[in-house]
Amino acid sequence: MTIKCKKCNHEAVIFQKYSGMHLCKKHFIEDVERKIKLTIRKEYNIKKNDVIAVALSGGKDSSVALYIIHKVLGERPDIQIVAISVDEGIHGYRPHSLELAKQLTETLGIRHIIKSFKDEHGVTMDDLAVMDREKGTCSYCGVLRKSVLNRAALEIGATKLVTGHNLDDEAQTILLNHFRGDMERMVRLSPSAAIEGLVMRAKPLRNIPEKEVALYALINSLPVDFSECPYAGEALRGEIRELLNSFEVNHPGTKYSLLRGFDKLVGALKKELPPAKTEKCRICGDTCTEDLCQACKMLGRT
Ligand code: SF4
Repeated sequence: MTIKCKKCNHEAVIFQKYSGMHLCKKHFIEDVERKIKLTIRKEYNIKKNDVIAVALSGGKDSSVALYIIHKVLGERPDIQIVAISVDEGIHGYRPHSLELAKQLTETLGIRHIIKSFKDEHGVTMDDLAVMDREKGTCSYCGVLRKSVLNRAALEIGATKLVTGHNLDDEAQTILLNHFRGDMERMVRLSPSAAIEGLVMRAKPLRNIPEKEVALYALINSLPVDFSECPYAGEALRGEIRELLNSFEVNHPGTKYSLLRGFDKLVGALKKELPPAKTEKCRICGDTCTEDLCQACKMLGRT
């Protein structure tokens, strides 16, 4: 028996347990795009002459973010959209996703810049993976990627830097920060006022569950890499992902509740924990809060 869409008589492609709605293709797409437009309007204050850099890995999340930003803002002549990809140097994985990223930007007619860890920091993830390290591979990758993206965004005069973080990513990070008691990091999850040297981050997919981002990419036939990085596996995050997914099955809406709770709390947290003063890293010149930036510290530069 086919299940019908709650809003029309067509066949449903998804059941959103948290909203209790079965939706057909058309109404699912409308629902995703409505939520994303609302997030952009309420949280990211898009202005005349904005230059919007979109971090594009070629995976589902960043590809959907670019596709929708282009759909929503691509017609505005006063706004520039530029995609930035980062080649971390992961053999057998990154080249394919970069190829798909290139395909998407060509189809959409969007300028595409590719930067690499090797050029910017003199090291690849493959190099780092076999070195003696204090932390997991993803910790290094995350810090270096942030630095490379911010530098590239500054180079093109970007006023916003869009990333593809979805609801699952955000809910996991909120819980992870609670488990670690790391409220300074918690505060940094929300968009802050522009700080010289740091491009403001925007996460238009933060209200969309990961499964829905994947379905949206499939329905729109986006060229997307669904393969997994060989170094994936930040242990604690993996446990939290499983925990949250099982909570979501038994208590639909848990991920949204975590995000809503965070959004209510963050204003008060910001007052208690104002952002640290920024300075320039004495090695590389990146903007940071100590005399050495995270990337230089991690790479043992002194
Ligand atoms: Fe980098 Fe980890 Fe993502 Fe791989 S899974 S691309 S190592 S952050």
